[in-house]
Amino acid sequence: MRFEYVCRYCRQKIGAVEAPHWSLGDAMERLGLHHLEPDHQWDVIRPRDNQFEIQTVCDACEQAVAMHPELLLEGSIIQ
Ligand SMILES: [Zn+2]
Repeated sequence: MRFEYVCRYCRQKIGAVEAPHWSLGDAMERLGLHHLEPDHQWDVIRPRDNQFEIQTVCDACEQAVAMHPELLLEGSIIQ
């Protein structure tokens, strides 16, 4: 399985993990998602085509949100 890290705000690809032998359960555990509520897990990791997209935040957006926390609100309204 292939996992792609994508910024949840600007949709920029940040990186990818190629892990053919991981099951989804393995991935959840290795990515530290297994302790999240199932609803929150599916907010972070999303099936897309034949791979999974992991929602994260790139450096640029992290700085933007740190300086302008109201962007975070706008982002969640748009989604
Ligand atoms: Zn971004």
